[in-house]
Amino acid sequence: MTDLHAPSVRAWTTYDLPVPVAQLRSWLVQDPSIPDLFAQQAKRHGNKVAVRVGDESVTYGQLQDRVACLAGWMVERGVGRGDRVLVMGENSVELLVACLATMWAGAVEVVANPTYTARELAHLVTDSGATAALVDGHLKGLLDDELKRAPATVCIDNNKEMAGVWAAEPASPPQMQGGELAALQYTSGTTGHPKGASLTHANVVAYLRSVHIAWSWTDADVLVHSLPLAHGHGRNGVYAALLAGATSVVLPRTDVSHIQSTLTAEHATVFYAVPAIWGRLVNSGDFRPSAFDSLRLYTSGSAALEPSLARQVRSALGDVPLERYGSTETGIVVTNPLNGPRVEGTVGQPMPGAEVRVADKNGESVDSGEVGEIVVRGPSVFNGYWRGHTDTDFIDGWYRTGDLGAIDPEAHNYLRIVGRSREMIISGGLNVYPREIEHAALESFLVREAAVVGIPSSRWGEEVVMAIVPETPEATDVDAVLAHLRQRLAPYKVPKQIRVVSALPRNHVGKVSMKDLTSLWDLR
Ligand code: AMP
Repeated sequence: MTDLHAPSVRAWTTYDLPVPVAQLRSWLVQDPSIPDLFAQQAKRHGNKVAVRVGDESVTYGQLQDRVACLAGWMVERGVGRGDRVLVMGENSVELLVACLATMWAGAVEVVANPTYTARELAHLVTDSGATAALVDGHLKGLLDDELKRAPATVCIDNNKEMAGVWAAEPASPPQMQGGELAALQYTSGTTGHPKGASLTHANVVAYLRSVHIAWSWTDADVLVHSLPLAHGHGRNGVYAALLAGATSVVLPRTDVSHIQSTLTAEHATVFYAVPAIWGRLVNSGDFRPSAFDSLRLYTSGSAALEPSLARQVRSALGDVPLERYGSTETGIVVTNPLNGPRVEGTVGQPMPGAEVRVADKNGESVDSGEVGEIVVRGPSVFNGYWRGHTDTDFIDGWYRTGDLGAIDPEAHNYLRIVGRSREMIISGGLNVYPREIEHAALESFLVREAAVVGIPSSRWGEEVVMAIVPETPEATDVDAVLAHLRQRLAPYKVPKQIRVVSALPRNHVGKVSMKDLTSLWDLR
């Protein structure tokens, strides 16, 4: 039996924790609310730049003033404790103000992806029961009439409308309890209807605190951030910086030259990215390793970082990106160490305070090296989804992530993610893990990107199919790719069909959308 928790606690003590492990959990949850902690930093760093997005920057003092005014304006219009407020827009200072002001008003942020269609948004509004909306003007048309008319609805990118808001009586920060809701974070829903993960202030604060410890955040840090604020990890990157008294620079665009010039101009110390961004950087003719010189930390997460890509980064920048693992429901719960050895293809060991195991279907830990479901417990883990659905997601108090993984005894007991249990394909009665086939395909110089999925098959139950983006348009040789795979994989794992595409269908944080991928095949 392997319990990742026990060795992990020992391992973490070797990484210079600022507090003894026994005190860690209570320390992580001692501060109840995000607005309180933000106000503390605003007091300390009033004149320092808190956030820059494109050409607009605000100091901590200015940010707090705007947050308090927008919160006061909402409270005057009847927004109260625990009310859900829809926030939606492109990356901007105002979007961040809207999120923080919602919490400052004691309400719950419900941040929608600005690429949602009216139909997707309708689900979110109805499910969350939002009664107020802070949105970019061009997105207002998507709201249903009731919300459009709600007294606390404002277009956050409209200077005229916002002038009224800035004139409002500032609200003082609420005295919130850790157990009160901070956010309903709708999961990215690459497979089904988005569900709202209910996250309390204590959950989010524990998440941010553990990131501070594990990655040694200080107020001297400058974060350059390539994730959208509409995504939980995107926002939490900025919240982590804010609660550390650091500066965040949120990229309005993520083209290679803009990323690199920003890193240099800002003397960035921390860079948050996802595998799709690393791929874009490394594969562009314009990749300039010197732009990364000032960084002490560069990360990857939200989706698997191919070992081959990690190695490309290592040979250019000296080390692989620090890969981390987590989800909307848990926060970041596993990471490669900041100062210890990083192993590409693994996500590392538990974050401070998090407990992580690999379990069988009864919730018992499996042996080291064996594949099972990753289950997680700890102060950053949510209590359930908004409106129920909780029972099947937890087993004896452990959250079932739906991710399959194994503890690798040959790699410092780090966790390897094998795939999602829902994505596991059963073909001819045999289990096939898409990621294994994708890894094998990417070892071919013909393939730049690959994604594998199972489609219904009368002969096999499910059949393995794969979409590839060729390394160059001329390199489209499906037979050669198949020959490459046949040398590496048992016949039942070799895709029955390969589709060549110019780009994989990805969502806003670069994850492949399984729904859109499957629709490349004509299913009857
Ligand atoms: P989200 O809730 O959108 O953050 O998605 C969480 C899911 O992303 C996890 O359950 C994993 O399936 C996947 N994920 C996150 N980080 C990684 C990683 N480093 N490697 C592989 N998959 C990851």
